[in-house]
Amino acid sequence: MEGESQSSLERMAEQNGADATNHDEAYFRHLAEAMPQIVFVTDARGKVEYYNQHWYDYTGFPRGTYRTEDWIAAVHPDDRPAMLARRDADVTTGELFEAEYRLRRHDGVYRWHLGRGVPVKDAAGNVIRRFGAAIDITEQKETAERLRYYAILVERMQDAVITTDPDLRIRLWNPGAERLYGWKADEVIGLVAPELLQSTIETGERGKAAWYAVFSQQERWHGEFHKRRKDGSPVRIESTITYVKDGDGKILGVTAIDRDVTAARAIEENMRFLAEASKVLGSSLDYRTTLAAVAQLGVPEIADWCAVDMLGEDGAIERLAIAHVDPEKVQWARELQEANPPDPNAPTGVPNVLRTGRAEFYPEITDAMLVAATRNEEELALARRIGFSSAMTVPLRLPDRTIGAMTFVTAESGRHYTGADLAFAEEVASRAALAVENARLYREARRAIALRDEFMSLASHELKTPVTSLKMYTQVLQRQAERRGDTDLSDRLLKMDRQTDKLTGLINDLLNVARIQTDQLEYEDAAVDLNAVVHECVDIIQPTTTTHRIAVEGTVEGRVWGDGERIGQVVTNLLTNAIKYSPQADRVIVRLGARGGAATVSVEDFGIGIAEEHQGKIFDQFYRVSDPSEKTYPGLGLGLFIASEIVKRHGGVMEVRSASGKGTTFTFALPLLRGDGERR
Ligand code: ADP
Repeated sequence: MEGESQSSLERMAEQNGADATNHDEAYFRHLAEAMPQIVFVTDARGKVEYYNQHWYDYTGFPRGTYRTEDWIAAVHPDDRPAMLARRDADVTTGELFEAEYRLRRHDGVYRWHLGRGVPVKDAAGNVIRRFGAAIDITEQKETAERLRYYAILVERMQDAVITTDPDLRIRLWNPGAERLYGWKADEVIGLVAPELLQSTIETGERGKAAWYAVFSQQERWHGEFHKRRKDGSPVRIESTITYVKDGDGKILGVTAIDRDVTAARAIEENMRFLAEASKVLGSSLDYRTTLAAVAQLGVPEIADWCAVDMLGEDGAIERLAIAHVDPEKVQWARELQEANPPDPNAPTGVPNVLRTGRAEFYPEITDAMLVAATRNEEELALARRIGFSSAMTVPLRLPDRTIGAMTFVTAESGRHYTGADLAFAEEVASRAALAVENARLYREARRAIALRDEFMSLASHELKTPVTSLKMYTQVLQRQAERRGDTDLSDRLLKMDRQTDKLTGLINDLLNVARIQTDQLEYEDAAVDLNAVVHECVDIIQPTTTTHRIAVEGTVEGRVWGDGERIGQVVTNLLTNAIKYSPQADRVIVRLGARGGAATVSVEDFGIGIAEEHQGKIFDQFYRVSDPSEKTYPGLGLGLFIASEIVKRHGGVMEVRSASGKGTTFTFALPLLRGDGERR
């Protein structure tokens, strides 16, 4: 091919001997060969005459070939048509040519190049050749691409992105920041960010030092601030702050990514408040204390001021609690309230909520509203000083009436309540109302129980006297009948006497329970021989049964401290139950013994037994096992309650082991006295 054996510069020298001296040529050749970019020369029509060393290094074409088609082949096929069109156009216009295109490297990789072609003209202005150069701009292009990408990202980010210089002066303020804080970028560039936003952080030299201290320890800081928007409203910000350093590690500024978490935090706070309030409300039955505690819980997270008013039985409004973070302000509010008690007929506010049972909600309190709501100049001036910004009063409502109201007010925080806040306040109030009602119901229940115990005590006492007379007369009659030899009548009177005993037993149980309730059951204190107590009881019970034989096994060494008669009552009760609840059996075993410093008495029967699920409850008063499959046994469900109370009073324990249908063993243990008669 033409030109392959001859360098284009040589030919250039031949063709343009006049304008290219040997010296110039050598100079150009050195320069071109040393260039780390592609350099080439074409004739006026675009035919290649020269490629420099870098061309061959880059493309991998054999050195010394000056083929135009190589150049065309090296250009990316997508860029080729435009390139050729440009070249052909330039041939006619003779203009400076500049274009970006991809050029294939020897390894097949295309890299972006910026190509330039400078026309060389003769004296008449005709283009005689072109000098071309192409430099690899792939990296710049990529960087520019990345930068553009980041710029778009920052532009479009939902979050606020703010970049500052080392003095925290704002340099970048994205649309997210405009949306979040209400300031436009051109209003804030150059201002000190924390000052502008009234961040709860230090500014000035100390603030800067603090930040640098943070960033000498860690890459980024993540946390929350309270800031303010352009309109002065408070906003809670979750912020991630990173510093920007140059190559030498010098801090160029910081970048903050801010997100509004006001609503999210408010919900969290509400949930926490609700959980805590519920705990407080359930903690005590004194509703005055609990409601005051709930009001206190509400500040300052839910409200700057929180008050609870209750409707008294006489229709008067009583302020139960008022809370503010500053106790001085609370005192001041109390005095104010006393000086100006609320008018129960007032058309708005707490009296109205109490009357109607409907909430009042003022998301935005305007000055006009203050003027309308206050009764005189003094009150108005005060209200203005407090600077109310939002308020809501919600009823403490029961199904049939309103018993009070809770008021939440924001002032210095500048917060405005929303519909969600109102719903939340109503939820709190409904829980509070329920707690108050529960406390009232509980008090009533307690009163009813006390009344019942009093009645039981009185009734059993009143019943005792006639029953005692009844028993006495029965016995007199029975003896007379016996003497007369009227065995038939005597037997009936004996039965009557036994029924009278049962009646006495029931009356005694009632009396005992009433006394236990009021802690009036009396006990003797003495050293008691359990062996004697048990035998005595067996001697009394044995004659009352014709079906069962009661066997006593073992003895107790030593004595216990207490009331022998009451302990006897326990044994008697266990024995009577054992017989009563084992109608198919014919024996009961009583065992005396000792276990770890305590005397034990157990009574075993072989009767119906007690199902597992009832075993824990049979010692409760009035508890009776009711199983439809079993026949019913008479009783009041008091015996075991009294027995276990007596055992407890003696410092002992009572337990039961039983299996349905197999039988039951009740055991009670009482502390043994030491040898010297002292209690252990
Ligand atoms: P009651 O007057 O009903 O006997 P108690 O307090 O003495 O009252 O007993 C409570 C309940 O425990 C009884 O109703 C009965 O169901 C159950 N119970 C007590 N002792 C026995 C026993 N030895 N065997 C089976 N069940 C028993």
